[in-house]
Amino acid sequence: MKIAVVGTGYVGLVVGSCLAENGNDVICVDNNASKVRSLKRGRVPIYEPGLEELVVRNQREKRLTFSTALARSVRVSQIVFIAVGTPSDEDGSADLRHVLDVARDLARAMNEYKVIVSKSTVPVGTAARLREVIRRETTHPFSVVSNPEFLKQGAAIFDFMQPDRVVVGVEDPRARDLMRGLYAPFTRTGAPIMMMDCASAELCKYAANAMLATRVSFMNEVANVCERLSANVDEVRRAIAADKRIGPAFLFPGIGYGGSCFPKDVKALLRSAKDVGYDAEILQAVEAVNQRQKGRLVEKMQEHFTSLKGKTIAVWGLAFKPRTDDMREAPSVTTIDGILSQGGKVKAYDPEAEKVARGILGNKVSYMQQSYEALKGADALAIVTEWSEFREPDFARMRSLMRSPVIFDGRNLFTPEQMRAEGFTYYSIGR
Ligand code: NAD
Repeated sequence: MKIAVVGTGYVGLVVGSCLAENGNDVICVDNNASKVRSLKRGRVPIYEPGLEELVVRNQREKRLTFSTALARSVRVSQIVFIAVGTPSDEDGSADLRHVLDVARDLARAMNEYKVIVSKSTVPVGTAARLREVIRRETTHPFSVVSNPEFLKQGAAIFDFMQPDRVVVGVEDPRARDLMRGLYAPFTRTGAPIMMMDCASAELCKYAANAMLATRVSFMNEVANVCERLSANVDEVRRAIAADKRIGPAFLFPGIGYGGSCFPKDVKALLRSAKDVGYDAEILQAVEAVNQRQKGRLVEKMQEHFTSLKGKTIAVWGLAFKPRTDDMREAPSVTTIDGILSQGGKVKAYDPEAEKVARGILGNKVSYMQQSYEALKGADALAIVTEWSEFREPDFARMRSLMRSPVIFDGRNLFTPEQMRAEGFTYYSIGR
């Protein structure tokens, strides 16, 4: 099929490359000209494992092209995906400016029947708004489809290629058949393609992210209670995870969730509920617990050092989670701001996120090229992101480099017993 994907971010680029990989002709469109230039040269501006390889191969095979020309791309495509950002507005609602701009522009370019697919995470009612906006600009026939994306950064290609399910909000048979055909190669392994009305499809994405965020905040709350009652959250987690009704996924305590999705989607769902007169109390608590949890590591540092003035803290991990360079809403930013505001210094290391971090944190911290380099002369180490390379470090080397052997582990990579035996003063979450 001939497809245009508008927005070449973490979602659009993965969707476009994966659809091309399955034999479709895909044009990825972005209004950021320098991004498009670098993609044309086969350079992917974000870190997502396996993505560059897919971009290069499909561009070489001429199934994948990049462009800033939205109108031309729309005219030659049957299906147009909108995959632009929907950041939080000041009141927590999803800012639909980019989505509606794209809809208006693509409507003006339409020359025949098109299926317009919303891939961006958008609140209930957006498909209806898109229909209105497009209808005002064109007399050509079209269908609007809501097709939320459930991929995880860091495993995005696998998730798109082998989804747990595909959700399609669609209200006319022509678009339904096209979408079924498009996703047939991805659902051959038995994953269901769930057709439903657009409002339900739009809500699915928010409900899924809110549920996952709830599990995270719930476990962080349990961890905080464990600390006060001298229980071990690892044991509690193992025991409750064995219950089939609960299951093991998303039960790891830490220093809060971040990223471009959970925080903004929880806020947007809260806002949507409020707009229709419903007070979503669980979601409010999920958010409040997460905010507090992001400050836990610095609280522990304060308790240990009394004052952070003049202390140098090595920080391992800046990205909001491993296998990505994304730092949107990352707990690292809260942690680092907390250390700096109390007069401490930060030497930070992340395997992939340094470039992004420079854009957010500037010169407020020293960036190290290697994990051990960050430890030289450090009064403590804060582990913020659970990159695999931090899991089996050389503890003797760490001790010899640090001014004092103190670790604040925000991701529970080690056990307290192991750390005691290695000669560290060790703080973790819920133990
Ligand atoms: P992103 O910020 O990485 O990418 C958005 C892209 O859209 C940018 O390249 C930007 O230049 C481009 N853009 C903005 N306005 C444009 C316009 N008018 N014309 C052309 N291009 C334009 O965002 P993302 O993380 O890929 O997220 C996109 C959407 O997908 C959001 O709604 C998000 O909630 C949703 N989503 C994200 C993830 C994720 O893991 N990141 C997962 C599922 C769903």
